Amino acid sequence: MEKDDKPISMKHLPHKTIERLSQYRRALLICLDQGQTHIYSHEIAKIQHITAVQVRRDLMLIGYTGTLRKGYNVSELIDLIGSIIDAGEGIRVAIVGMGNLGRALINYFSGKRSRLSISASFDTNPDKIGRTMSGVPCYSLEDMNEIIARENIKIGIMTVPAAAALTVAEKLVQAGIKGILNYTPKPVYVPKDVYLEEYDMITSLEKVAFYVKMQEVD
Ligand code: ATP
Repeated sequence: MEKDDKPISMKHLPHKTIERLSQYRRALLICLDQGQTHIYSHEIAKIQHITAVQVRRDLMLIGYTGTLRKGYNVSELIDLIGSIIDAGEGIRVAIVGMGNLGRALINYFSGKRSRLSISASFDTNPDKIGRTMSGVPCYSLEDMNEIIARENIKIGIMTVPAAAALTVAEKLVQAGIKGILNYTPKPVYVPKDVYLEEYDMITSLEKVAFYVKMQEVD
């Protein structure tokens, strides 16, 4: 199977498709490491716990279809997904709130094969400002505009307490950030041209706990 003309503008890919493309690539990289050159949609589906129809639909959206006989070419597909979801020269990221979660995220990211690099962090705690933690310098919030412009940082990750969420999001937007990943349980507001992803771990855990409880009730 070959790469076709891309059927829809990549800008209009559904958010969930983007998420799954990232997951497919991670799974495909493992397959490549294990020497697998081709893969069928139902194999990807099994790894991701979704249907083969969903996989085929996502890959058709990016203009890729497999052959019936051999399936998808693993390395071709990795490159194609990369050309769609990766930023050409990489994107710089800042973390606001160098508490336990902020530091854990930096440690988790460091050394991972990624075009995203955490270049700066911000905090209000004077004991943290001016220090370098896990290789990332920590600055005062007051220096945010200057550092974000100087370092060409495009994404802000928020790991501050919920009470600080709204003001921190506002500051990030003012500083020219184009995307925010909000780890606080407090929803924030951003203008249309800023992409916002909210990930509230407490809600996710409560959802899991709810289903565990339901199973016990049955
Ligand atoms: P620690 O004990 O190291 O402070 P923690 O995980 O208990 O860690 P939290 O209270 O969750 O800390 O706060 C997370 C981080 O956010 C802390 O480093 C805190 O200093 C910082 N912080 C709090 N308010 C703000 C704010 N308005 N702007 C930026 N950072 C903030």
